[in-house]
Order: sequence, then C-alpha cells, then structure tokens
Amino acid sequence: MTKTALITGITGQDGYYLSHLLLNQGYRVVGLVPPHRQPNLAKLGTLAHQVEIYTVDLRDTLALLTAVEQLRPQEIYNLAAPSFVPDSWNDPLGTLDLITGTATRLLEAVRQVGLSTRFYQASSSEMFGDVDRSPQDEETPFRPKNPYAAAKLHAHWTMVHHRQRYGLFACSGILYNHESPLRAPQFVPRKISLAAASIKLGLTDTLEMGNLDAKRDWGFAGDHVEAMWRMLQVDEPEEYVIGTGKLHSVRELVSAAFECVNLDWTRHVVINTDLLRPDEHFQLVANPTKAKKKLGWEPQVSFEELVQKMVQTDLERLQSGAIAPATSSPSV
Ligand code: NAP
Repeated sequence: MTKTALITGITGQDGYYLSHLLLNQGYRVVGLVPPHRQPNLAKLGTLAHQVEIYTVDLRDTLALLTAVEQLRPQEIYNLAAPSFVPDSWNDPLGTLDLITGTATRLLEAVRQVGLSTRFYQASSSEMFGDVDRSPQDEETPFRPKNPYAAAKLHAHWTMVHHRQRYGLFACSGILYNHESPLRAPQFVPRKISLAAASIKLGLTDTLEMGNLDAKRDWGFAGDHVEAMWRMLQVDEPEEYVIGTGKLHSVRELVSAAFECVNLDWTRHVVINTDLLRPDEHFQLVANPTKAKKKLGWEPQVSFEELVQKMVQTDLERLQSGAIAPATSSPSV
C-alpha cells in the first residue's frame, strides 16, 4: 500500500529535501500550502510536479481537520514556521499562532478523526536558549530566549501532551542549524556562500560580518530530514536531538567559503560593529548519541562538503542569471 505523507512548510528548505526523500521511498506526498503562498511552489522546482498540493490556510481549524480526514495520511511532518528568528520579535503573536496553532490543530485533527497517523513536529535547538551546559541532549532544560523559541516550545509540549494523554504517535526532532543551497540568504551560511560567489565573479567586493568568533553546530539539511523520517519508522515515538555535535566558528565558515573560490577572505570581509552580539558562555551544540543509537542516524555530509556545495551552487546560479548577487549591505 502506498503511504501518504502530509507536509506543512513543503516550500521551505526542509520541505524540499524531505519531499525528495519520501518520493524516492515511494510515498504519495501532499503539501498543505496557504493560498497567498502558492507562488512559492516554484521553489520546489521539478518536484512541484511530483507532489500534490492542498490549498489550506494553516490557521483554519476546520480546513485542516477536513484535509486530514480526507487524506488520512500515514505520516504528518509539521515543518511550517516563520523560521528566521529575529523576525519573531516583530510579530510575536503571528509567530505563536502559526507555530503553536498549526501543531495543535493538526494533532487535534488526528485525534478527532481517530487516525493512527505518525506525527513529526519540527522543534528547534533554539528552545534550549540560554544554556548552562554544552553539549545539549534530550534531558537538557529548555530556557527559550525569543518569541520563536517560546512558540516552538509550546508546540513541542503540545505534541508531548497529545502523546501522553491520547496515545498518539507523536515525535519531535530538536534540530540544530542545518543548511543547504536552498537556505534563504538572510541566514549567515548562505549570506557567506552568496558573497563568496559574488565576489569571485566580480559582482561585489565586500562582505559585512559581525562576530567571527561565534560558533554553531551546522549540518546539511538533507541529512537532518533523514532523521525526521527515521523517527517515524521506529516502534516508540520520542524526542531526539539532531545535530552534528561539532562546532565551527563563523571565521571557519568564511574561510572555507572563500577557499572554495581561491580568494583570501581577509581582503574582502569588513567587520560591522552594529552586527556584533555579546559572546555566549556556553555554546548550542548537539549530543546526538540517542539518535545514533536508536535511529542509526549519523550526518553524512561534512562541514567542508556542505560549504563547497553551497558556494558551488551559488556560483552556477549567478553565472546563469538565476539569482541576484549579494549586496555589500548587512543582512544579519
Ligand atoms: P524555511 O526554509 O524557512 O521553510 C519554512 C516553511 O514554512 C516554508 O514552506 C514557508 O513557506 C512556511 N511558512 C512560513 N511562514 C508561513 C506562514 N505564515 N503560513 C504558512 N506557511 C509559512 O525553514 P526550514 O529550514 O525548511 O525549516 C523547517 C522547519 O524546521 C521550520 O519549522 C523551522 O523553524 C525548523 N527548524 C529549522 C532549523 C534550520 O536550521 N533550518 C533548525 C531547527 C528547526 P514559504 O515558502 O511560502 O515562505
């Protein structure tokens, strides 16, 4: 029997990689996309013809219930979110409504229709927030620092409550930063890959950055979506911390990106003190031992390979005129 997977946020970075994985596994893939975001289906490229799209406003409880009732999916992946954290300060209520509201509506729909659907919630390492230990694992306390993280935590607990009270097969992946050529340019790694490629082609000359010593656990989106899928294939629904467990500084990222295009980054990077943030005492870095043990999951793409993939793709896109070059103005 062909399995149906329902995805919110299908037009995002993870939606793309997850759809690709599921289609290759023989799933019927259905994306729920609000009417006003239909133009973004173009981001799916050729995959747009292989998935089905239901036009649904994710804030519409009845519409979501109807979609779940009609489609009766074996798996739901709830990925939709305004994912650029700083934006959540401008719209805390909208952030909460979309992130927490969608998770709650979908879980309630599964419960009310009485399905045995397996549910994945896209949780975030941002929920750990103001950490007092490194690395973090599934037992680390949550101390969210922004409206995005608070909304994600609310959604996460709603998922746990539906599992505990109603016995739903509900899981979440607490994912650390993951990147790809599909990452939006306001995120630091893509900002850097685009700048390195633009400078190489003589389309711009400088890259403005803040704290080069800031460190992150950066993985490849294609690896991280594999962990999501694996979570829904095991017998017990649980939470999993998903990250590489390795920290790299922004300086290393810049250096690796410019190395890909044989340029000396120190000639092009300008430090903008407006972009500096206070140093973090403890770093957000994953301890993915549980995922390795119970899911057999391990990242396959190294930091260097990831950077190479991103810079190479940006070079090709710029050369073909598919995207605009980086501007020298700061975006982060
Ligand atoms: P992304 O590329 O920003 O994709 C987000 C998706 O959510 C897109 O399909 C987007 O639609 C949709 N969306 C945003 N605002 C919406 C709204 N108001 N109504 C309906 N849909 C909306 O994010 P991603 O990197 O794929 O991340 C997937 C999920 O994992 C997100 O929930 C994110 O918060 C979470 N996460 C990501 C990371 C990471 O490092 N990437 C880490 C931890 C957790 P449009 O295409 O129309 O904009």
